[in-house]
Amino acid sequence: MAIKAEKTRKNLDVESIRKDFPILQTKVHGKRLIYLDNAATSQKPAQVLKAINEYYTETNSNVHRGAHFLSNKATTLFEEARNTIAAHLNAAPEEIIYTRGTTESINLAAYCYGEAFVKSGDEIVISAMEHHSNIVPWQMICERKNARLKVIPITASGELKMEEYEKLLNAKTKLVAITHISNTLGTINPVEEIIALAHAKGIPALIDGAQAVPHLKIDVKKLDADFYCFSGHKAYGPTGIGILYGKKHWLEQLPPYQGGGEMIKEVTFEKTTYNDPPLRFEAGTPNIEASIALAAAINYINATGLENMAAQEHELLQYATAKLQDIEGLRIIGTAKNKGSVISFVVGGTHPADIGVLLDQQGIAVRTGHHCTQPLMRIFGIPGTVRASFAFYNTLEEVDIFVKALNTALGMLK
Ligand code: PMP
Repeated sequence: MAIKAEKTRKNLDVESIRKDFPILQTKVHGKRLIYLDNAATSQKPAQVLKAINEYYTETNSNVHRGAHFLSNKATTLFEEARNTIAAHLNAAPEEIIYTRGTTESINLAAYCYGEAFVKSGDEIVISAMEHHSNIVPWQMICERKNARLKVIPITASGELKMEEYEKLLNAKTKLVAITHISNTLGTINPVEEIIALAHAKGIPALIDGAQAVPHLKIDVKKLDADFYCFSGHKAYGPTGIGILYGKKHWLEQLPPYQGGGEMIKEVTFEKTTYNDPPLRFEAGTPNIEASIALAAAINYINATGLENMAAQEHELLQYATAKLQDIEGLRIIGTAKNKGSVISFVVGGTHPADIGVLLDQQGIAVRTGHHCTQPLMRIFGIPGTVRASFAFYNTLEEVDIFVKALNTALGMLK
């Protein structure tokens, strides 16, 4: 799935879009904020902030236990939000589990799937470019079950070696867990093909969509993903909410994750019977307002048009890549053909953290460090990178200011 460059900004008025995001007016160290840390978290439009405020001023109540007006209203909005999210992914509402974020979604899937299906000697396949949250939960299940983690290697440009991937799939492989877009390299992985190759051998696949949902149209049916995870906060929604999509037939076979209220049918001291999915996996009071606000974020994305957003982001990526390549000694880490709007780089002997501090002083927010991909940093033989990541509300003018500020910073570090 590629980010297409057609239908460019003619359909997206960035200046008016920026007015939807109040925080973009912020001054940092007396300078205009230029926010290029969108892969860490996105900013939130007024429509999302309004949904949160309205929830607490007009609806606040607990869900699914309603004997009264507000509780029924909260439950209706909470479940309508699930419907909106399901429709956005082309899933059924009962296949949508509310979690705290991608990390919890993957932990939930790893724990429950691992408990049900992984045994001694089995293998789980991940890739060399995974975020720690798509490594560690699988390591934990491997330790518990005496299973083994297998890692798909990557090329120097940061693309998966697909022929090596195929070789890793065998009768012992119990699951493939791959990121859709790398948060460090920007690589967009061919997940449809990855899933098809796994399915050809009867192996299910989980996709970490944390970096994909804000930028690409995701159709879990077309992808044929068995599990798909994302975080609300990277997709213009609030923190503390995420989604685990799971195919109905898988969810029905999985044991619960946590025990408590909501996830039960009946409790006695002798024995408890569990609820059906998705409630089986949603013990305790959920993050109600964040679920509703995530649906508001999805409505915002749909009204703006993912294709328009992706076109703007692609233009920013191309423009910034060309400008950065002109800087002497600068090396871009992650040069895949098919890339999301993320540019990681290192410059000569300078430390990424020093560049980050000097950019911050000029009002520019980037991320520096290992980006929760330490094994990947080891492969490239670097301690970390500077990462600029763009959203559709960024402008070419901001890229110019960023590149100028970077040159100033590099001059100071010489
Ligand atoms: N996977 C990827 C690819 C990510 O970029 C991130 C966030 N950096 C995560 C997983 C974890 O997301 P969260 O912290 O929202 O749970």
